[in-house]
Amino acid sequence: MNNVIKTVKFRDLSVKDTKLKNELLKIFEDVLSSGQLILGQQVELFEKKIADYCKAKYAIGVSNGTSALYLALKASDIGFGDEVITTPFSWTATLNAIVMTGATPVFADIDENFNIKSSEIENKINTKTKAIVPVHYAGKLCEMSELKKICDSYQLKLIEDAAQAFGAYDKLKNCFAGNFGYAGAFSLNPMKVLNSYGDAGVVITNEKKVYDKIKKLRYLGAINQNPCEFVELNHKIDSLHAALILNSFKYLNTNITKRRKIAEFYNLCLNKYVTCPKILKHEHVVFEYIIRSDKRDELEKYLISHGIECKVRYRYLMPEQPAYRYLNFKSLKNANIIKNQVLSLPCHEKMTKRDTNYVVNKIINFFN
Ligand SMILES: *Cc1c(COP(=O)(O)O)cnc(C)c1O
Repeated sequence: MNNVIKTVKFRDLSVKDTKLKNELLKIFEDVLSSGQLILGQQVELFEKKIADYCKAKYAIGVSNGTSALYLALKASDIGFGDEVITTPFSWTATLNAIVMTGATPVFADIDENFNIKSSEIENKINTKTKAIVPVHYAGKLCEMSELKKICDSYQLKLIEDAAQAFGAYDKLKNCFAGNFGYAGAFSLNPMKVLNSYGDAGVVITNEKKVYDKIKKLRYLGAINQNPCEFVELNHKIDSLHAALILNSFKYLNTNITKRRKIAEFYNLCLNKYVTCPKILKHEHVVFEYIIRSDKRDELEKYLISHGIECKVRYRYLMPEQPAYRYLNFKSLKNANIIKNQVLSLPCHEKMTKRDTNYVVNKIINFFN
């Protein structure tokens, strides 16, 4: 049987576990028979749970993570004429959300954790600068104390793209991802650590003003049948997703622990061959496990040819994409090196010991 190629999926979003499947079907039945399909009681329960978990005053459920970030920015009065400092290294949702508000993005280089580097920010600040949008890349917290200090001294709003980092926690500060600044945005899509089974997102904030405004902005700039106060599209969340996410909380801590275990095992076996990420106990939920290597392209090909699904996130910086040709951004030294070295390996709660051993052995074989 030596010629049978084993396959290891990058992610496995299928639901095969009978207990989980039955839970989800029961939730679907309950929501259907309630007749409340959008917003409503399930969404209110979900919002309370999210706010409590993150120790935030308010949470507002929305249709997806991109809308969550966009609405967090809009409700913080970011728009035309404003500049927003962010990372060049993220999924394009971050940049699209910023640009859709009308604001101009400005990019600061990244650090060894793939996150915006605080020391690269101050020389980008001018009178138009209104906000900093850090992304907790791969689920690891940015240098939040430094970012907060900069925001305080220049009176900028700190608005976190915490899409990949639900549950990441700064123990010293007793603060969860998304709750460090003015507002924080999460995606709860099926790939994220806390997930629904379709698109969903949420904003957390301690500002009543932001909460009140997003409640209006998420549905055409009006509440219920009241007159429209702001021109906005529809960003409402379905009741079903709220109920499904409430159920996902049951598995959150176990899943985070399993991911950390796999990441630690990879680190132990691979650090002689590649640059491994530092795995932190609380500050890191391992949304993705990303190694760095100068042989990245050959390694990627080798692993794929051995049935191991791995991904390069991302081959391009956000502003290098075709839609952003009009932006003139200056070359970013670290980001340009790092984008040619990163490779994300399979690292998720459905992997078996055989899977992780297989990945490790193939990588060691490659380097030998
Ligand atoms: C997933 C993700 C988003 C967007 O979330 P959606 O729910 O897919 O709209 C935004 N930013 C980052 C960093 C993400 O990983």
